[in-house]
Amino acid sequence: MKIAIQGIAGSFHDIAARRYYGMHGDGTGIELLECDTFHDLCQAVQNQSADAAMMAIENTIAGSILSNYALLDTHQLFITGEAYVQIQHHLLALSGQTIQDIKTVQAHPMALLQCTDFFRKYPHIHVEEANDTAAVAKKIRDESLKGVAAIAGYAAAELYGMGILAERIENNTKNYTRFLAISRTPNFTSKDHNKASLSLRVSHTSGTLAEALIVLKHNHINLTKIQSIPIVGLPYEYSIHIDMTWEDYTDYEHAIQELGKQALEIRIFGVYKEGEKNLELTAQKSYAKVIEKTQPTAKAKSDGGKVDIEIDHWKNWVPKAPNAPSEDYLLIAGPCSAETEPQLLQTARDIAALGKTSILRAGVWKPRTRAGGFEGMGTTALAWLKRVKEETGLMIGVEVATGQHVEECLQYGMDIVWIGARTTGNPFSVQEIADAVRGTNLAVMVKNPISPDLELWIGAMERVSLAGIKKLVAIHRGFGTQEKTELRNPPAWSIPMQFRARLPHIPMINDPSHITGRRDKLAEIAQKSLDLGMNGLIIESHLDPDNAWTDAKQQITPKVLGEMLDGLTWRPESNDDGLATEEYTKLEILRSSIDRLDNEFLELLASRMNVVREIGEYKQQNGLEVLQEARWKDLMEKRLSVGGKLNLGDTFIKDMFDRLHTESLETQSSIHSK
Ligand code: PEP
Ligand code: MN
Repeated sequence: MKIAIQGIAGSFHDIAARRYYGMHGDGTGIELLECDTFHDLCQAVQNQSADAAMMAIENTIAGSILSNYALLDTHQLFITGEAYVQIQHHLLALSGQTIQDIKTVQAHPMALLQCTDFFRKYPHIHVEEANDTAAVAKKIRDESLKGVAAIAGYAAAELYGMGILAERIENNTKNYTRFLAISRTPNFTSKDHNKASLSLRVSHTSGTLAEALIVLKHNHINLTKIQSIPIVGLPYEYSIHIDMTWEDYTDYEHAIQELGKQALEIRIFGVYKEGEKNLELTAQKSYAKVIEKTQPTAKAKSDGGKVDIEIDHWKNWVPKAPNAPSEDYLLIAGPCSAETEPQLLQTARDIAALGKTSILRAGVWKPRTRAGGFEGMGTTALAWLKRVKEETGLMIGVEVATGQHVEECLQYGMDIVWIGARTTGNPFSVQEIADAVRGTNLAVMVKNPISPDLELWIGAMERVSLAGIKKLVAIHRGFGTQEKTELRNPPAWSIPMQFRARLPHIPMINDPSHITGRRDKLAEIAQKSLDLGMNGLIIESHLDPDNAWTDAKQQITPKVLGEMLDGLTWRPESNDDGLATEEYTKLEILRSSIDRLDNEFLELLASRMNVVREIGEYKQQNGLEVLQEARWKDLMEKRLSVGGKLNLGDTFIKDMFDRLHTESLETQSSIHSK
């Protein structure tokens, strides 16, 4: 079991992790994943570099680490348990050093806060903040640093062979840290759990928080903690973090039901068994006793937990087609759906005869947006494809949406599976597919999700990559839209281009068939994708397109496909580094940044107007004038000053705030006259 901790072996996170998972884990021993920051720790669990994590949340002397709740929230992680560890701090240095030799002490700010009394007695010791207590001990040993001390426990002293200059230097000997066991999945089901952590967002109206607390009281729920946490992006709005315990699980269930009706939002971080307190655990002098089954320790990436997607380039595993228009492009063609054996076989023969591509695509399970259409021939078609492969020598690619689909593709010797646009958007399905391809020799292509969400697309690639698949290709197939557009799925070029900018080493091909939905536009989109530096095309081709069972309007015969490919301009050198060179690419990316910023701007504007309305109501209830000259003058001065520092011209700021002010006055006047 791989457990992410903040800090390194020998830290209190290490002690807590071994203790907790030693008792609650799956018994396979513990391997630590050392993370520099809590953020890295959460990323490691989220992206499955670790199975679970141990994360400090509060200390009896230094207080809570509120930002860790936000990290749990943003990484969608859950609390599955807790452990209290007694923190005993000692002053460690190279053996032979005395306290007079020590000029600086380096430690985690939390540790420093817990030992302030001790250092007040030694004013000659300079206090410096570091990332991790045990890491300082390790550094002192590794670099034989004289004059430097660390604050850490016995475990670090033993592990890094340090001398102990002073024992128990914490301000108060009742020094406990509460650690949370963190996991990707909650353990909501077990009825013997007696503690929950959740956050509530209640409306501003007076009394709502009190009402929520009364619900808890009526249901015999004991609050062990209540704390308000600012909501990022909603100034002066708070979510209330609550830890609670109970005797009877049904009381908890009732309370949650009632709270659910009252609160604007409720997020349950986890339901778990309350941890045992007051353990003199770290008083054990021998680290060896604490760690029962030690396993190697890995180092997490400190770049925010991003997965390095390793690629086995398609040129290494796709045979060259005899008449390929260019060796530098990956070409895939085939019918939208495998309909009948003759349709499939004849289409494949014609495509093979063109000699322009080495890969045949065919839909076997068809995800239709609406129910009641043709849903694919399934396993029957896989048997046909196996024959096609034997006869034509083409590699075969099939869309998969479940682990079972992958199993069947493997049985029938398929070479490539692709994750379709309707599936990429669902991390559960993507993970299921990733688990199924793990350990196989399959190549995996990932289409962009229907929604224009770059992170989901990259996340899907990461999941497949974490399953050990290196034969990876991204497919750009355009994005769903509500508007009536000329193209079926508008390409939104800036999204694939941002993908390219972030992950230039991942080959990306374009799917003009699903972007256009119409054959007369195929060449235009295909050419643009090549101009933008994409690495190839996947095009739907059918021997009788007009009578195709799916996507009839966008398919072309193999003959027309050949002519179209001949008519395109291939730019072999431009795409070698995977980055487009054309100027308009840059413009597309910049424009997309403007779009994003404008949306954020509008959201902020809406939040501002909400506050304006609240102020309006307040003024009305308290008989205040809508226009408050002094306040307005003061506000404008401050905005001009901040604006100036941000390099925004005075006239611009003044015009803009005048306009905002007019709108605010109008809004408040209408409230006033009610
Ligand atoms: C397909 O390739 O036939 C298909 C269903 O595509 P998409 O997932 O892009 O809609
Ligand atoms: Mn199709």
